[in-house]
Amino acid sequence: MSFSVDLINWYQKNKRELPWRNTKNPYYIWLSEIILQQTRVEQGKSYYLKFEKEFPTVRALANADEQKVLNMWQGLGYYSRARNLKKAADQVITEFNGVFPTDYKNLLKLKGVGKYTAAAVASFSKNERVPVVDGNVYRVISRYLNIDEPINTPKSYKIFSEAALELMENSRPDEFNQAIMEFGALHCTPTNPKCDKCPLSDQCTALVLNRVKDLPVKKKKTKVRERFFNFIITNNASGLAIEKRDQKGIWQNLYQFPMIETKNHKHQFSELKKLIETDDRFQNHKVSKVTQIGSDRKHLLSHQRIWARFYEVEFESETVYHESIVRTKSLESYPIPRLIERFVEEEAPHYLK
Ligand code: SF4
Repeated sequence: MSFSVDLINWYQKNKRELPWRNTKNPYYIWLSEIILQQTRVEQGKSYYLKFEKEFPTVRALANADEQKVLNMWQGLGYYSRARNLKKAADQVITEFNGVFPTDYKNLLKLKGVGKYTAAAVASFSKNERVPVVDGNVYRVISRYLNIDEPINTPKSYKIFSEAALELMENSRPDEFNQAIMEFGALHCTPTNPKCDKCPLSDQCTALVLNRVKDLPVKKKKTKVRERFFNFIITNNASGLAIEKRDQKGIWQNLYQFPMIETKNHKHQFSELKKLIETDDRFQNHKVSKVTQIGSDRKHLLSHQRIWARFYEVEFESETVYHESIVRTKSLESYPIPRLIERFVEEEAPHYLK
């Protein structure tokens, strides 16, 4: 039998029941695809159900406050996805008269929608003949056809999407696309693929050539930037001091404890004290005590490795801070980066009450 027939037969028997699989509504499909980017299916499921319930239509999402969307996104990371979600919903209302587009070309016009998401929405909702190419698809195809081309270069998308289109043959694009992704996620996995009970094993070139472990090929990534963050926690009668990250870059529009970035973490408490006392935000107030809370934390982003330290700082007198500092009794209603959320959950849960 052919690749697509074997694959779809496998899918019919093995597919997982997922809430977004039983709909043709492009809005729901798009919602699930954005949530699932860089998120495990199990984790994404509860967020999908929450968003679907709170915003049952694209208009409901467009009418929502961005802060509310960010709050609901908390825990998923990569907040630019949440911001784009809201912007794309606005676009559907203003540019598409409130009707969610279903064709590949128009879907690509939406903020945050790339080739993969556009192909998924167009094929799942309207059976448009466009292949989806995600990490799972790259892996299955590179092994099945023994393709050595690295999967993370600018030209790889074209090579693999053309191969996927050929393998699709006469099958239905929605079924084929769902099937190949599910097959990569459950069967032809990065490590320990189930080659011994694989319906494609007869024609799988990598298996025949004993190259399964070598594929897919990835080009080495660019260097990761190391950053050292010192978070200053001050808590007194006026409340906990936090600030909004207005500048472009990571965590834009999220809240954090006032942060001082240093070149490394080799400084002594006395040096940190000086940095705080000369920082505009603290208006030259004298520090009386600095205590590190918990141990150093590492947080990985796509091109950055953040090393974070959290300090509880007391001042000699009751302080008035710079206007950029917000005082609050609880962090609960503020969207905060996952790094800070984890710290608070583990070391200072009272800040969430
Ligand atoms: S035989 Fe192994 S490598 Fe080839 S498609 Fe099946 S699971 Fe993947």
